[in-house]
Formats: sequence, C-alpha cells, structure tokens
Amino acid sequence: MAMVSLVAGTRRPSVWLPDAKMPSDLVIQEHPSPNFGERRDGARPDLVVIHYTAMASAEAALERLCSTEYEVSAHYLICEQGQVFRLVDEEMRAWHAGAGQWGEVTDVNSRSIGIELANPGTAPFAAAQMDALESLLADIRSRYALPPERVIGHSDMAPLRKIDPGPRFDWKRLALQGLSVFPKELDDIEPDEVRFVQDLQAFGYPEVPLEALLPAFRSRFHPHHHGPLDGRDMALARDLSSRFPIDRGKLTA
Ligand SMILES: [Zn+2]
Repeated sequence: MAMVSLVAGTRRPSVWLPDAKMPSDLVIQEHPSPNFGERRDGARPDLVVIHYTAMASAEAALERLCSTEYEVSAHYLICEQGQVFRLVDEEMRAWHAGAGQWGEVTDVNSRSIGIELANPGTAPFAAAQMDALESLLADIRSRYALPPERVIGHSDMAPLRKIDPGPRFDWKRLALQGLSVFPKELDDIEPDEVRFVQDLQAFGYPEVPLEALLPAFRSRFHPHHHGPLDGRDMALARDLSSRFPIDRGKLTA
C-alpha cells in the first residue's frame, strides 16, 4: 500500500490575511439601476469582474449605468473618493461583462459580480478608491467563499474587446491581501507560444490568438512591457497555471 503523501499544496489557502481595512469600514449607498435581469438557471455568483468606467467623471458614469438608453450596469460603482454605490442587487444579473469567457463560464454576467471603478482609463487609481474596493472584495469574498483566483479583470474574460482595468490597476496589491492572485517571480523560461497559450488557458483565459492574449496578460501581470513573447512572460504564465489551474470539471454554464 502506498504511503499517503502529505506534500504541502502550493495553492494559496482560502483565507485572507488580517488587515485594518475590514468589511466594517464599508458604507454602501443604494442607487438603483433599471438595467438588470435574472441570473440564468438560478446561477450564483462565483466570479468578480473589475472594470474602469472610461468616463470623465463618476457622476457621468453613474448616470450612464442607470440609463435605460444604454443598457449597461454593474453591481457596484466606486468613486475616486471611495464612495460605493450599489446599482444592482447581487442576486440579479447586471449587464457589465458582455461577450467573453473565463474557464468554461460563457455567460459571465450570470455568474459574476461586476465592480466599476470610476476612472477615465488614463489616470492612476486613487488610494481611497482602492481602500474601498478592498473592503468590498473582502466582504464579497467572505459571503460567497470566493477563492482569490476568481477575481478577474474585464480584459481577462474579453481580451479581444476590452482593455479595462488596464496596466495602472494594482493587482499585486490585491493579491497581497488574498483578494486576487499574482504570479511569483521565477527564472525565465525559453519562449514557446504554444505552451504560453496553453498555460494561460489552464488559468482561465479564453481561446484567442496570441496577438490578443499577450497584451491582455501583460496588462495585468507584466504591465508596461512590450515586444515579442519573452522568458519572463513564460515564467509568469507557468506559475499561474501551476498554482491556480481552473477547475473545468467543476464549472458549468
Ligand atoms: Zn469593463
């Protein structure tokens, strides 16, 4: 009989580090949007998708996300000063993700909570806004027992169409608190396009050409880096796929 091997897992434990900014800091203002529907097939959220608004002001974004003319919304909008607005009840399906895929999830709206950060797309994210986002994510995470790798960006699930939340968004900061994931720095690996694409698909990225996948990946994990696929891209992708392989068997819809 084989010995039971007690090798420590490399996956991040499903707890987050204690931190001063706990959910008790969270103040949410209700600002209902008419733009929502039912989650299909009784789906429950098991993803969080982070966006930026790409608009000049939070007021303008709030108006658009609540206008029947545009048919867009999100569950939450966080302003630069850290105010959090709830536009759509979490039980409902907000219209933020659109066409795209993460792992086997193709109806991302039915399976996710969408968070918009007021940001024109060309500015850094304000400290108060990031603090509020962390409190909100910690709260969502505790209520749904969400693993950190289930917090993704819009460009992750729709790399052919979307670039938000962009290279200025601090994913490493979220990962340090167990609110998302970030790859470890490992030795470079010889570039291999096929392997790179396979690794990113094993992490959850959809099947899209390298020309679209590489900028989406770099925007989040290797920001402000350009040029052909390199050894560091390879090593980062390998680490993501080995520590956070998406559980395709478990996912439906
Ligand atoms: Zn978006």
